[in-house]
Amino acid sequence: MSTEKKAVGGETPSMCMRCKKPTAHIIVSMVQDRIAKVQCKSCGGQHRYRDPEAPLKPPGKRQGKVSPEEVWGKAMNPVTPQKKIPYTFSGHFKVNDLIDHTTFGLGVVTHLLAGDKIQVLFKDGEKILIARR
Ligand SMILES: [Zn+2]
Repeated sequence: MSTEKKAVGGETPSMCMRCKKPTAHIIVSMVQDRIAKVQCKSCGGQHRYRDPEAPLKPPGKRQGKVSPEEVWGKAMNPVTPQKKIPYTFSGHFKVNDLIDHTTFGLGVVTHLLAGDKIQVLFKDGEKILIARR
């Protein structure tokens, strides 16, 4: 079992974005116990240390984020039993009001928007509705 500590000048595997694969790197700088900057032994490029074991998180993908259903479920739960307000264009709504929409079902008002609009969280996501307040 290796207990040797990583240190500047030592070697560590890291993802190299230029080589587009994990390669051997020399540790260039460290912050406390963590490797900060490394130099690729293959291409010589210096960059931030990237753990080759860490899963890649493609930007834009909503992985790991809670689904609208979960958010909706959470929004429903803490609400003390209150009466559902049937949604109408001329309804008066405020944040946290429980809305009963004929198409979208039950929703919670999350924001009051400018221009007679409200943002409501339904089971399949947030929707902007018209409401004259
Ligand atoms: Zn490289």
